[in-house]
Amino acid sequence: MKILRRVSELLEFVAGARNRNASIGFVPTMGALHAGHLSLVKKAVEENEVSIVSLFVNPAQFNDPRDLESYPRNEEEDLKLLAKENVSAVFVPTVEEMYPDNVKGDEKIFDLGEVAEVMEGKYRPGHFQGVARILYRLFNLINPNRAYFGEKDFQQIAVVRRLVESENLRVDIVACPIKRDSNGLALSSRNTLLSPQQRLIAPEIYKTLKYSVEYSKNHSVRSTIDTVVERLDSIPEMKVEYFEIVDARTLQAIEEWDESPWVVGCITVKCGDIRLIDNITYKIPD
Ligand code: AMP
Repeated sequence: MKILRRVSELLEFVAGARNRNASIGFVPTMGALHAGHLSLVKKAVEENEVSIVSLFVNPAQFNDPRDLESYPRNEEEDLKLLAKENVSAVFVPTVEEMYPDNVKGDEKIFDLGEVAEVMEGKYRPGHFQGVARILYRLFNLINPNRAYFGEKDFQQIAVVRRLVESENLRVDIVACPIKRDSNGLALSSRNTLLSPQQRLIAPEIYKTLKYSVEYSKNHSVRSTIDTVVERLDSIPEMKVEYFEIVDARTLQAIEEWDESPWVVGCITVKCGDIRLIDNITYKIPD
């Protein structure tokens, strides 16, 4: 496994792969890897001749400086895990290497459409422009055939697809299912920041979402939303930031179950100071 820290090294590695006509699978991550990330990595290794994983905590996508500062970092362990997966190369740039002109410099504004306006877009202003900014750079440097993303960040996948479309990028976006702990909690790098007490209550998020799928069978969209929010808000230390039931293609909120053939509920909950996100499918087309 090659460890590449400079853009020049990455370009050289990519040119080598292209000369051999090798297909390239790319997995962008912010490190502090867990089994969720590794499920994407395994798929990239399986489906491509060359696999590249990036480890980069991208300052441009953090709207809260405290969140950026406390974001878990564990490069040494990450490299060990990736070596075991037979990854071809890991790109581990510094902030200066990725953003030589400084992070908030002359930013290109990306057209991310209506999917970026709601939910995370509303609660984390600038977040998706920051995600688009790093992915646009990485996609241009690597020019991958396929890039792998997790459905835990359901909205992010829609935004990335929109970025690919609006910038005419030639990369297949592969969506991978959410990996969960045995107690149902969606795996996340931020889970390591939870206190022992918060760890005990965090699985209630998925339990409540699962319960809401049963509940939704004979209740309205509005009533289903209210039930989820009330249940979670009644737990000490938990506060729902938003819970929206949306058309999975447009991510716009629906009012009636029959408004769309594909319906997903997306939630963000603050567990103490830690922001946890998850989602659940209510309806999927046959
Ligand atoms: P992050 O390091 O949080 O930016 O995540 C990198 C990629 O891993 C993103 O595409 C995430 O959606 C994906 N990912 C994170 N957690 C999970 C999970 N529990 N299951 C599947 N994919 C995940």
